[in-house]
Amino acid sequence: MKAPASGQEHLKILLRRGAIQRRVREMARQISRDFHGQRVHLIGVLKGASIFLSDLIRHMRVEVSLDFMAVSSYGKGSQSSGQVRLTKDLDTSIEGLNVILVEDILDTGLTLNYLVRVLQQRKPKTLRIAALLDKPERRIKEVKADYVGFQIPNEFVVGYGLDYAERYRNLRDVCILSLPPE
Ligand code: 5GP
Repeated sequence: MKAPASGQEHLKILLRRGAIQRRVREMARQISRDFHGQRVHLIGVLKGASIFLSDLIRHMRVEVSLDFMAVSSYGKGSQSSGQVRLTKDLDTSIEGLNVILVEDILDTGLTLNYLVRVLQQRKPKTLRIAALLDKPERRIKEVKADYVGFQIPNEFVVGYGLDYAERYRNLRDVCILSLPPE
């Protein structure tokens, strides 16, 4: 079925739902192997990572606990200015825990670079990053993602949790969104 687009917006499928599901399952297995016999504390970055996180944990075969953070970055439209601000902090301490920060997409790296600095100060036992998508071309700040689902080209994507003005998060495929000229 063709994904519904609004107005003159156009959607083109980049990653099909089956491929996403297979890759997420592989990532969960890899994490389960790496943390065999241990507990893993997953921190989802709201709101984009929520769909990825909820699929990921259901394939994990280790003990799992969850928490969430939210950030906002100042800037216009899809361009970030580089200033990141925490808008929702964790509910509980992460001291001594095996933490995996779960993010939808790694783009300039500003968000994850900031979050890693914040979380490292709280003395987790280990801190890793799982990102469904990675746009390496756009990197400004160096970030080492331990688990990456797909490297994608420098296009604006929506679906599987990713939005444009809060829309399209519910698409099961990841699609490239083209906007009408302003
Ligand atoms: P970074 O700080 O790495 O530049 O960007 C991370 C955040 O920017 C992501 O969590 C996401 O909210 C947003 N972002 C970056 N690229 C895209 C994209 O292609 N589509 C959408 N919907 N959001 C994006």
